[in-house]
Amino acid sequence: MTDVVSLSAAQAAERVRAGELAPAELFEAYRARAAADAQDLNAFTWVADGPPADGASASAPLGGVPLAVKDLFCTEGVPSQSGSKILEGYRPPYTATVVERLAQAGAPLLGKTNQDEFAMGSSNENSAFGPVRNPWDRERVPGGSSGGSAAAVAAALAPWALGTDTGGSIRQPAALCGIVGLKPTYGAVSRYGMIAFASSLDQAGPFTRDVTDAALLLRHMVGQDTSDSTSLAFPEPIELPQGVDLRGVRIGVPEELTGDGIESGVREAFNGTLALAEQLGAHVESCSLPHAPHALSAYYLIAPAEASANLARFDGVRYGLRADADDLLGMYTATRAAGFGAEVKRRIMLGTYALSSGYYDAYYGRAQQVRTKIAEDFRAAFERFDLLLTPTAPSVAFRLGEKVADPLAMYLNDVCTVPMSLAGIPALSIPNGLSDGLPVGVQLCGPAFSENRLLRAAHVLEQALGFDGSSAYV
Ligand code: GLN
Repeated sequence: MTDVVSLSAAQAAERVRAGELAPAELFEAYRARAAADAQDLNAFTWVADGPPADGASASAPLGGVPLAVKDLFCTEGVPSQSGSKILEGYRPPYTATVVERLAQAGAPLLGKTNQDEFAMGSSNENSAFGPVRNPWDRERVPGGSSGGSAAAVAAALAPWALGTDTGGSIRQPAALCGIVGLKPTYGAVSRYGMIAFASSLDQAGPFTRDVTDAALLLRHMVGQDTSDSTSLAFPEPIELPQGVDLRGVRIGVPEELTGDGIESGVREAFNGTLALAEQLGAHVESCSLPHAPHALSAYYLIAPAEASANLARFDGVRYGLRADADDLLGMYTATRAAGFGAEVKRRIMLGTYALSSGYYDAYYGRAQQVRTKIAEDFRAAFERFDLLLTPTAPSVAFRLGEKVADPLAMYLNDVCTVPMSLAGIPALSIPNGLSDGLPVGVQLCGPAFSENRLLRAAHVLEQALGFDGSSAYV
């Protein structure tokens, strides 16, 4: 364990900018660790040979601190396969806006990380490139779908990473790997160049070792992009969080997301943190999100419906894999049959069914109505509370293979994270101690564009909790 990789990203950037650390040395320290990982965690699908020759200067705000990027972000000339065989060998002609912005701010591409195929999953076991292992226990999953990014940061194979979150894919793996993961407000970060899963839900966000690093990375990610008409200018600069207490902060605890189905070790850690928040001066009170129990059902109609449309473009003509057949229709079907994995096929069938004439109103239309109700529940809660606190995931990391045969059990992992995705609001997960030696996460959420508020509160809790994740990489 070299000294360099024990620095947080913000500390490493400071050293580079002060001339005390050469950016090439920093890059190489991580590159060597990432490249050596292949046989262990399987966190990367591609690792760079070195920093780009035309990279930003060492005086750039992010100081040359290298960035691991989830496979589904298009990166020019570099494999971008979204964890799928159907995109095997695909090297895009352009780079996603957010990756480009971060490179310009001084965070060069370190490598591409493993993920569930097209971001569908909660364990990274749906990747065409093999599962990722959890650095805290190699027999367990890292969570998903951004499992490679989470494992890479937890194991210090990367100082920080990008993931995407559609229903929990940043927050849940962050919780299971003992790191920080933030899903921004929908529209805060450009989706241009992200290989789409469910366009009304997908958001890019940071994975980091601490809250300060999350703020620093997010600061250079947000902003309007003319290539993404759903992106918006962030109304204020992202600040590096300060503060030592939660005086005056009103915290709501939604009954529906903190009761049944939450494993006892997770609940104990959660209750401990509520007590801690009160000691720090917060006003903590229970509240209700009456429609939250319907969030999973609505999500598993809306997300597959959008996916079935988004994934229609993979037909063997334009990208990646092409299977042999006698005619065009045969080539389409043979390519899709050979290229998509079981979970992706399941979702395309579900989504196509939900959108079919005669069922559209009964399923898709109804799910959209539930989505509106969920957003209204949050709006009502934020009239009384500054932020809400819930566990991030109902359990600690489970064993590889434990839930692969039972899709419904797998979907339940998202019970605490999906409501915020449907409402489009920001949420972040920070480490909340250990249960049976495995990391637990706690989730904070707030109204749209309240990222500064969430980061500030998370930073105070983080200081008070004093979680040490270094045993995952020393
Ligand atoms: N686990 C959820 C799913 O499988 C969420 C995935 C995500 O956020 N990309 O859809």
